[in-house]
Amino acid sequence: MGGQDIRKIWSRHFSPLQMLELDACTRCQECVDACPVVRAGYPDGAMERIAGWRRLVTPKTRILSRLTGTPIVEDGEAALFSSLFRCTSCGACSVVCESGIATVPLWESIMGAGREMGFLDPAIEQMARTIIDKKSPYGDPRADRVAWIPAGIPVADAAPVALFTGCTVAFRQPEIGQAALRILAKSGTEFCMVQEESCCGSFLFRTGSSEEYAGTIRAMIEDLRARGVRTLLVTCAGCLKTITVDWPRVYGKELPFVTMPFTAFVRELIRQKKIQFRPTPHLRVVYHDPCHAGRHLVHHLGPDLAFEAPRDLLRAMPGVELLEYEKNRKNQVCCGAGGGTKTRDPELAIAIAKEKISAADRMDAGILASVCPFCRRNLEDTRVIVGSSIEVLDLIQLVDRMMDSP
Ligand code: SF4
Ligand code: SF4
Repeated sequence: MGGQDIRKIWSRHFSPLQMLELDACTRCQECVDACPVVRAGYPDGAMERIAGWRRLVTPKTRILSRLTGTPIVEDGEAALFSSLFRCTSCGACSVVCESGIATVPLWESIMGAGREMGFLDPAIEQMARTIIDKKSPYGDPRADRVAWIPAGIPVADAAPVALFTGCTVAFRQPEIGQAALRILAKSGTEFCMVQEESCCGSFLFRTGSSEEYAGTIRAMIEDLRARGVRTLLVTCAGCLKTITVDWPRVYGKELPFVTMPFTAFVRELIRQKKIQFRPTPHLRVVYHDPCHAGRHLVHHLGPDLAFEAPRDLLRAMPGVELLEYEKNRKNQVCCGAGGGTKTRDPELAIAIAKEKISAADRMDAGILASVCPFCRRNLEDTRVIVGSSIEVLDLIQLVDRMMDSP
């Protein structure tokens, strides 16, 4: 750390555009009301975070840091990083920002710079170490990663289509992966998987600690390329964003395959009449857009894949009535689990999710469906706590349940 002043650290972590964005905040406060963490009672939010960073890099601070060769931080600035550790990285602030600030990448840059300046959250550092060493945030044995795959489902060595499930499905919610496999098998889709699927690295990218992990990501990309994969189907919102947005940066060029939300592939199967649904008695289903599969990806995948594909599955199910939250698609409200909040501050995650469960109950929905295992877990935990009778499902599970038997 010695000999480095704040300005040098800053220039390593922020693009020229981001430096302009840090000066672009007009303090209009639009982001304050949009922030689920603020609504849960914390004084955090985009406006205060940007102001905190500006204070951190004042001329006085920079001169002091240059004189001493060590970053000098003014009293109270630790609060800036505490607020980052609570942020769900939902991106709601970026949607409402009248200055067009791309907030979530900015938080990642501040987090990366903050780590270099010594603001280390022990829980974040521990989690990062576990992912780098064990290739998953759960630290479970590597051999268990594929233990959920049923023996009767054929996984090809090579195929144009591959499935990426991510750590949470593989280690904690295998029922979602098993539903995806049944859909692929019933539709006659040949598919392969990465030889040694590892964590996508989402947490590392969000917390500015991904450098050590680049080799693992490159190995997975090369493995998929060698298997002739042209389309990578992803069942987890966090993995989908990371592979689509962050992996090309690590790879240094375009990926040799396209990423596709699993639900978008299912829509193609429906259009090709490779799967069909049984009629069901009237069933009210409300759809929750996960932040990382929706507004984080809409500029990469387009609104059709980001927002409409999952809804089209529900529209295709006879007897299902699709319900919408008042705020939906790019304006949706976070479930509270993202950005590592579920791990670092589970009570905050639950506090945020209560709003989603109570709104779904007011709509008299029978099922709350999403396409993210983190959303599902946090919404289900919250459902139990508040005593709601709504069923929380991943949409992939609902498709599997509603499919006609072969
Ligand atoms: S990304 Fe979401 S949680 Fe984080 S500051 Fe913005 S609105 Fe708040
Ligand atoms: S919405 Fe944008 S410009 Fe307005 S206070 Fe928030 S970050 Fe600043």
